[in-house]
Amino acid sequence: MATSIIEMGKSVFMDTYAQYPIVLANGEGRHVYDTDGNRYLDMVAGIAVNILGYKDPGLTETLGKVVSEGLLHCSNLYWNSYAVQAAIRLSRLSGMERVFFCNSGTEANEAALKLVRKYGSSKKDGKTDIITMTQSFHGRTYGSMTATGQVKYQKAFHPLVPGFSYAAFNDYTAVESLVTDNTCAIFVEPVQGEGGVVPAQKQFLQQLRKLCDERDILLVFDEVQCGLGRTAHAFAWQASQVKPDVMTLAKALGGGVPIGAMVADGKAAKVLVPGDHAATFGGNLLSAAAADCILARLEEGTLLEHVKTTSAYLRSALGELQKQYSQIIEIRGVGLMLGMQMTIPVRLLIEACMAEGMLIANAGPNVLRFVPPLTITEDEIDEAVGILKSVFSKILRD
Ligand SMILES: *Cc1c(COP(=O)(O)O)cnc(C)c1O
Repeated sequence: MATSIIEMGKSVFMDTYAQYPIVLANGEGRHVYDTDGNRYLDMVAGIAVNILGYKDPGLTETLGKVVSEGLLHCSNLYWNSYAVQAAIRLSRLSGMERVFFCNSGTEANEAALKLVRKYGSSKKDGKTDIITMTQSFHGRTYGSMTATGQVKYQKAFHPLVPGFSYAAFNDYTAVESLVTDNTCAIFVEPVQGEGGVVPAQKQFLQQLRKLCDERDILLVFDEVQCGLGRTAHAFAWQASQVKPDVMTLAKALGGGVPIGAMVADGKAAKVLVPGDHAATFGGNLLSAAAADCILARLEEGTLLEHVKTTSAYLRSALGELQKQYSQIIEIRGVGLMLGMQMTIPVRLLIEACMAEGMLIANAGPNVLRFVPPLTITEDEIDEAVGILKSVFSKILRD
């Protein structure tokens, strides 16, 4: 059954993804099943999206309620209470004043790019330039792709959007040397995801905050991957107490239902006015209700505590593995966003894990990425580590 679905898919899809040859059909808890009935422990969660795992009773009930009410979407010509409720929760949880809902991470970053450029344009002589980090990832549309500090995502698509420059991540002097009177914003991921699971240093974020305050530059944190409980804080920046002017979110925000958000505070909160920006689907009833459900779970607090304890448990198990294999260079990351830097390409390891019943992702060619549902249990971590041990003992032979 899977092979015929894949063959049909190949005949009709644009060839944009290098997909693994399984067709996923359903899920329960932290496990997903393919159309042939094979079961997989999920350490990917749809790339840090499905934070409550599968068949979460609260999320399932919420979505069922919205569907039964019959109105999935009404456009932003009108109000809907789910979006208002979700925005209030997001504002309360982040301590940031204003919310704009959209549909994806790249779209949240496009909104942020427009906001910071409008802010800059209101200054004397106009400030238009944006600094982002090397190895960053901000999305695939033109602005976000230009913001992404990795040539591999950009090289076939020039000309890019003007006004961007790139500083080495975690190198404050490099950022400072790029700042001019024309700089309107600095974009940073508090934990780089696609770039290899690399946390920003606390001091780096603190120095950026000070620089931005002194030079009237907006500090934008892309928390599309690291936000929403992933780091055991509702938002990754809360660990450093460095609050951004603008924050972007998506991935986990709807627990699997597509929704993104841009959140802004202080002098960034009221930059956009009617006519400046819009998204037809933004804050639609179904996605906003999902976001409200996810945000309620984060507000309640036990999930964050759970991430903290399971993170320590997973980290120490991975640390034990590192002692056994010289191909493991480093275990890094925060919360349940961990990376295992290897000396070798990880694709073979990923395929072997799949054959033994576990989904796991990469972040660049040589990094195994662990971004499971935040509800993962210690027993399930034991299961994951057991599979890794089995795969490593066969493939790495050290
Ligand atoms: C995934 C990701 C994006 C892009 O999100 P999409 O929903 O795929 O557009 C942007 N920034 C970061 C940090 C991401 O991890």
